[in-house]
Amino acid sequence: MKIQTIKCLHDNYSYIIIDENNLNACVVDPSEAKPIIDFVENNNINLKYILNTHHHFDHVGGNKDLKKIYNSTVIGFKGDKDRIPEIDILVDDLNIWKKENFEAKIYHIPGHTTGHIAFHFFREKIIFTGDTLFSLGCGRIFEGTYEQMFNSLKKIKSLPKDTKIYCGHEYTLQNSNFCLAYDSSNLQLKNKISKIKEKLGNGLPSVPTTLDDEIQCNIFLKAKDVKTFSKLRDLKDNF
Ligand code: ZN
Ligand code: FE
Repeated sequence: MKIQTIKCLHDNYSYIIIDENNLNACVVDPSEAKPIIDFVENNNINLKYILNTHHHFDHVGGNKDLKKIYNSTVIGFKGDKDRIPEIDILVDDLNIWKKENFEAKIYHIPGHTTGHIAFHFFREKIIFTGDTLFSLGCGRIFEGTYEQMFNSLKKIKSLPKDTKIYCGHEYTLQNSNFCLAYDSSNLQLKNKISKIKEKLGNGLPSVPTTLDDEIQCNIFLKAKDVKTFSKLRDLKDNF
């Protein structure tokens, strides 16, 4: 499987997962159709599936047009069946979604929204975390509770350490400033920040990151309990 990162809107990332044997593909969180269409046409891939982590417009904005053009099947959380446009297949926590050579385990990870899910391609050790876990940060809590978000991050934390994390936005640099402010003696964090700056300076995305890096450097994953986590989340909201 090959993962292609597609920049969308202002700072969103959509991802195209390509099976190089037959050029079948899935897109994760198409914010908008145009950049996805351009890639699909230029590379002659078959866009068979649209995977949505949550219902926010910057993650589902391309569903309708892409489905219309490519007749793609839309997969999303069953609890969000009325707010994910064009949804076809409803998935639930711990389901295995399997089609052709694609196989992912679904994790329900509420907090940012009540219906947020992650797609874990466990064979490839890749997870798409949408707006729940970012590199060096986590999503704002819009619909869920601090406790839900804390537990959702804990689920991701329990995956193999070499899991690659693909998140929904390029927020890494802003996030790094917050981590640094409250964890200023963390050398691994400082190293990661210089690598991030180098990538961004070369016009490259800072993601994917790895779970190992995030456990060492992401202050939200270092929070020992809900109380500490909630305090950090509030501080970040006003940072
Ligand atoms: Zn969102
Ligand atoms: Fe978003």
